[in-house]
Amino acid sequence: MPNLLEGKTALVLGVANRWSLAYAIAQAFRREGARLALTYQGDRQKTTVEELAAELGAEMLTGCDVTQEQDVDRLGRELAERFGGLEILAHSIAFANREDLSRPFVETSRSGYLLAHEVSAYSLVAVARIAQKLMKTGGSIVTLTYLGATRVIQNYNVMGVAKAALEASVRYLASDLGPSNIRVNAISAGPVKTVSARGVKDFGRLLDSFSEKAPLRRNTDPAEVADTAVFLASDLGRGVTGNIIFVDAGFQIMGL
Ligand code: NAP
Repeated sequence: MPNLLEGKTALVLGVANRWSLAYAIAQAFRREGARLALTYQGDRQKTTVEELAAELGAEMLTGCDVTQEQDVDRLGRELAERFGGLEILAHSIAFANREDLSRPFVETSRSGYLLAHEVSAYSLVAVARIAQKLMKTGGSIVTLTYLGATRVIQNYNVMGVAKAALEASVRYLASDLGPSNIRVNAISAGPVKTVSARGVKDFGRLLDSFSEKAPLRRNTDPAEVADTAVFLASDLGRGVTGNIIFVDAGFQIMGL
């Protein structure tokens, strides 16, 4: 079924490089006919993301550090000027200090805790607010989460707590925005080797143990995550909101 997103405009936040889950999502959105807007966090990533944006045929690329309110407001204005509206928002952003992803959780500093929550959870609320104004006839917001939100995963620490806040935010946003026909969901992806994931101590071991235990006996392919984002963004997902959908080769069902 081709062109599931024909006539829709998608904003994708979180493309840093070719390994980013956001890159796979942006590729799948384009494949299905969506118009694309991308952001980069700062000058450090600008050149790389410019190249990827050109390759993807993105029509808009702008800087946006989600901790900066003026950046988020400007993003909303630029989207309104360029496209007049928005139908899809993919939020694929997270950050925690590296030391908080290796030492015991009890050692997490106040500033590290707040930073992880600001970037990884509050940012969804901030961008959902601009999306609400732009999604005049409804839309779909999708974010990325991980099993560490509800289970203790060694070294995931403060990021797990931030993901729990993110998942609760998905439910509250879904309730607020549902009457405007805006759906809000999260994809809980199995571990994938990306720059962010490599910040978690012993990530390689985590990958091995996932593929050994997952019912499908393999790790998660970013393209599988992206295709689920297409489903949620398209009219096929029109009855789904406030959900956490696992795309993890089945790992989350396993006990011993
Ligand atoms: P990634 O490629 O490193 O993507 C993370 C993105 O967040 C980067 O583009 C990064 O930009 C951006 N970011 C961080 N701080 C930001 C800020 N203040 N403002 C704007 N952007 C900011 O890693 P990824 O694995 O694809 O992560 C994407 C999402 O998937 C995250 O929410 C992650 O928790 C989630 N997820 C990942 C996995 C996995 O195993 N990889 C599993 C489940 C869920 P810079 O590079 O410029 O800092």
